[in-house]
Amino acid sequence: MFSTETIAKFSTTPTPFYAYDLALLENTLIACQKQADSYNYHVHYALKANFNERVVKMIQQYGFGVDCVSGNEVTKAIELNFKPHQIVFAGVGKSDKEITEALNKDIFCFNVESLQELEVINQLAGNISKKARIAIRLNPNVDAKTHQYITTGLEENKFGINAWELDHLKEIIQRSSHIELLGIHFHVGSQITDLSVFQNLCYKVNEMQNWFTEQGFHIKILNVGGGLGVNYQEPDNDAIPDFDSYFSLFNRHLQIQSGQEVHFELGRSLVAQCGSLIARVLYTKKGLKKNIVILDAGMTELMRPALYQAYHKIENLSQYQGTTEFVTYDVVGPICESSDTFAKNLSLPVTQRGNLIAIRTAGAYGEVMASRYNLRDTIRHLYVEGDN
Ligand SMILES: *Cc1c(COP(=O)(O)O)cnc(C)c1O
Repeated sequence: MFSTETIAKFSTTPTPFYAYDLALLENTLIACQKQADSYNYHVHYALKANFNERVVKMIQQYGFGVDCVSGNEVTKAIELNFKPHQIVFAGVGKSDKEITEALNKDIFCFNVESLQELEVINQLAGNISKKARIAIRLNPNVDAKTHQYITTGLEENKFGINAWELDHLKEIIQRSSHIELLGIHFHVGSQITDLSVFQNLCYKVNEMQNWFTEQGFHIKILNVGGGLGVNYQEPDNDAIPDFDSYFSLFNRHLQIQSGQEVHFELGRSLVAQCGSLIARVLYTKKGLKKNIVILDAGMTELMRPALYQAYHKIENLSQYQGTTEFVTYDVVGPICESSDTFAKNLSLPVTQRGNLIAIRTAGAYGEVMASRYNLRDTIRHLYVEGDN
């Protein structure tokens, strides 16, 4: 929900733009940090979810570490004041240049995704006489029960090292003198709302760490990744995700050895609800069977519906008070692609040219995925200091 003042501010701003509610972001960070602290858990923010400067600066100020998936993200994290010891670097395709630069920056840890990558990191670290701290990303073969494009923990996908590679892994670690094994890492997918998925993950983590311990490896860090989902259907009901249930589940099911640290990598759950994409209605069209609303924002500004068939709640900010007449619309963008559709058969108050539209829960994987396809303008943003 936006206040009347905020809507007034929106209505004098050229659309489309992302609106970030910094007060909600702050409350979300406080809630997450409080729950994580109660178990002594460490949280790294997954920078790929949103690298808007004020958003990330606030996250940095609240003491979170950062999870990067490219060399440029590592550079950006350092520019935004994260310390090298707070940076972890994941990703299935780290280039030689990215690895060497991250070694030179002395980042905390590489999350290694394949046997070959492990050999390459060892060699590159050797070239510059360094020792790379690493965690092994293991593929736990846990079904995240989420959209197939955001599932990452099944054996048939490209992420992580699989169970049948473990003996070979052991042999490589033992002969690699330029790596230091810190721990094991998992990430099963994104937008996970069924917490039993994380319970299954805990069982796998316990099982895997037993294997490493039996082989004589010391596992200092258990990194269980991110993936906690948010409420896209009714954002105002769950503006702040239930971090309490999430962390307490790990506390109940993870078997932690003394001196061990537990790390998390949360992206979406920290930033999704604080962002909305604000657009204007350009045209309305009456078809034979359908009514269509054409917005001045499209898949170039928010790609998730086109990419993952994702649902975002759409609100008409100009008409929502007191209107009783509702019409069913398809809500689409201006881009020359049929997949440029935000919603089908959506019931909205009668909608007119010029109305302001909010597409909610767009703070994660929204602005960062924007493109200039069709030579669109670079997407703008503004900050709201206390709403919702
Ligand atoms: C994307 C990603 C995350 C964050 O996922 P969310 O679903 O946004 O919490 C965490 N860890 C890794 C390795 C990732 O690739």
